[in-house]
Amino acid sequence: MQVVIDPDAGFCFGVDTSISLAEEYLGRANKLYCLGELVHNEEEIVRLKKLGLMVIDYTQFGALHNETVLIRAHGEPPSTFEIARKNNLTLINSTCPIVKKLQSRVFYANEEMLAKDGQVVIYGKEQHPEVVGLIGQTNEQAIVINSPSEVNKIDFTKKIHLFSQTTKDEAEYRMIQQIIGERIMASGGDREQLLNITRSVCKQVSNRIPGIKDFAKSHELIIFVAGKSSSNGKVLYNAAGSVNPNTHFVSSVAELNMNWFKDIDTIGVTGATSTPGWLLQQVASAIDKLF
Ligand code: SF4
Repeated sequence: MQVVIDPDAGFCFGVDTSISLAEEYLGRANKLYCLGELVHNEEEIVRLKKLGLMVIDYTQFGALHNETVLIRAHGEPPSTFEIARKNNLTLINSTCPIVKKLQSRVFYANEEMLAKDGQVVIYGKEQHPEVVGLIGQTNEQAIVINSPSEVNKIDFTKKIHLFSQTTKDEAEYRMIQQIIGERIMASGGDREQLLNITRSVCKQVSNRIPGIKDFAKSHELIIFVAGKSSSNGKVLYNAAGSVNPNTHFVSSVAELNMNWFKDIDTIGVTGATSTPGWLLQQVASAIDKLF
């Protein structure tokens, strides 16, 4: 039996930078606060907590004074920076540069939409930290939709500037664009005049889809490793599963099931952009030891 780790799997540069900054700080201090989970991977969070990372929520953040807090790659709304200023908190801001640029675009689009009686629409999960940061750029005015059924929140007679959460599926985003375009036309409007689209799905996710499909096709069984709350994990897992139905999602070695490996010769191990390389290695080694 052959077990191969996908050479393209592992952290994207945004997550990699956040973790490096946390490790670097924890190399010279015994604790570092992090607002929210640094990465959507439970196993990596356990490892970082052992180094001294203390994950806090917004309530704990609001009560904190004179400490150092890491801002993760997902970014934060302006209100977070205001609290930090008032509470004399030192921030290590590891907002991914791609997210930072998107926040700025959303901010200016909102200014424009306000002037033209239009709407900023974000395709994403309302509670996702990146989306929370984006909504914050619009003074909480952005309309968030997470499925075709939610497009009814939009006024199709007014101007729309549409964005996507960076980790959404590009094909689904195109479908949302098409639905909105059709609804504008059904309302008697001109799609070209009323709909402005920013293609904001991160290439670190979308560019991996063809590669992960090729990898999934070239093995009899795929073990996909990711945190349960990872958005890009769901996108990439679905991409692998679309070409190889024998694809299984696990978050740790403990979730491997012996029955999956019966009569299998080639196994591929891959994961999300938030899955650490050491965890892929750990899963591959555990499979090796099973036989
Ligand atoms: S997926 Fe893209 S936008 Fe998100 S942290 Fe990684 S590099 Fe940045």
